[in-house]
Amino acid sequence: MNAAPASVLEKTVLVVEDNELNRKLLEVHLEMLGYAAVTAACAAIGLDIARRQQPNLVLMDIQLPDISGIEAIRRLKADQQTRAIPVIAITAFAMPREQASILASGCEGYLAKPYRRDELFALIDRYIR
Ligand code: MN
Repeated sequence: MNAAPASVLEKTVLVVEDNELNRKLLEVHLEMLGYAAVTAACAAIGLDIARRQQPNLVLMDIQLPDISGIEAIRRLKADQQTRAIPVIAITAFAMPREQASILASGCEGYLAKPYRRDELFALIDRYIR
């Protein structure tokens, strides 16, 4: 696997995911696409990084140890500093009711686990600014 060259124009993607393996996998995928990845294992740290670093995109897991990803997305979208950052929710939940509340949280995109790599890549390329 060839790492993409670092660039001052490199876009940054924030990954908020508590599962270490999933987090690492997303990080590797983002690097394959030429994006810089910053990661957080809980929502509180993710929200803090989003405010301070203004990533170009957020990939948000839904089941997190502190607050849910749904609540974290609501907070991102309620905050003037972070509301313009696109968010893709990534979740293992396939229940229609859960999906409805995820979509109602204000996220731009939604991806259910397990996902195919090309689905992930297409969503990232569609929503990254
Ligand atoms: Mn999780």
